[in-house]
Amino acid sequence: MTTPQTSGMTRGGRGRGGRLPRRRLTVADVTRVTPRLVRVRAEGDLTGWTADGPGAHLKVFVPTSDGGTAMRTYTVREFAPDRGELTLEFGIHADGPATRWASAGAPGDPLEISGQARGGFFPRGDTSRILLIGDHCALPAMSSILESLPAGIRAEAVVEVVALDDRIDVSGPAQPDVTWTTESGRPGEQLLTAVRSMPYPQEPTEVWVGCEAGVMREIRRHLLAQGARTARSASSPSAVTLHTRAYWKLDTANHSDHDTGEDD
Ligand SMILES: Cc1cc2nc3c(=O)[nH]c(=O)nc-3n(C[C@H](O)[C@H](O)[C@H](O)COP(=O)(O)OP(=O)(O)OC[C@H]3O[C@@H](n4cnc5c(N)ncnc54)[C@H](O)[C@@H]3O)c2cc1C
Repeated sequence: MTTPQTSGMTRGGRGRGGRLPRRRLTVADVTRVTPRLVRVRAEGDLTGWTADGPGAHLKVFVPTSDGGTAMRTYTVREFAPDRGELTLEFGIHADGPATRWASAGAPGDPLEISGQARGGFFPRGDTSRILLIGDHCALPAMSSILESLPAGIRAEAVVEVVALDDRIDVSGPAQPDVTWTTESGRPGEQLLTAVRSMPYPQEPTEVWVGCEAGVMREIRRHLLAQGARTARSASSPSAVTLHTRAYWKLDTANHSDHDTGEDD
């Protein structure tokens, strides 16, 4: 991945509510990477635009069928500020405006984005193992994180896709080990099955979970019951530390990007 930005700030000051002003980009190319994954590379003035690390997310503003605009959350897949390029990957699962927009996307389309991307993943210095568990719409974040991990760390991921033709190559200095599962039952069920059947980590491990809201809660509950701590409460270096986030919610449009399951 072109290096994500970790510093640098505003161009043109902050807008309402302390938010940085949106940017208007133009789609440069659209690639169907797999049957259910569309990569969109957009170009424009990204001077001062920042993404705080691998897996950081931003808001995109896409047209709706009634002539309005919908805001949705996506992950920075690649960011090259010097070339003014931003690449996003859209899973094709939902019957919603962002998915429709990406499915029909073409060079020349406008793409409006939020003023920055936040929420990137930085492992603790004492972690020896990173375990990512997520579904297909979290794959852009998982790919970015896995590519960023240094050699010597044990990097693993369990990914649920709808079908195996949505597998992609995931690589990086840590030589990640990716296990692919296919959807069976409700979306995310195979992730839960995988977590329940794996031995509880014995070494300092950070577990990152990104999937459907209900399944995320069940995975979270299972690991907490075994002794894991949330990122907020973990203090011991030997802890298994949990980072959980709902990437979407069944029967809900534009589910909150702040849902970490802490209300459970
Ligand atoms: C931090 C974060 C980062 C994200 N990054 C990405 C990313 O890089 N790529 C990506 O593809 N998605 C990503 N998502 C998920 C994406 O925001 C949602 O899937 C979003 O709801 C899609 O918008 P939409 O307009 O197509 O559908 P919506 O209008 O939001 O939803 C329409 C219907 O589709 C269902 N739905 C929504 N998402 C899914 C899904 N994934 N699978 C099955 N049904 C679904 C909803 O329950 C609803 O019933 C991210 C989410 C978060 C919170």
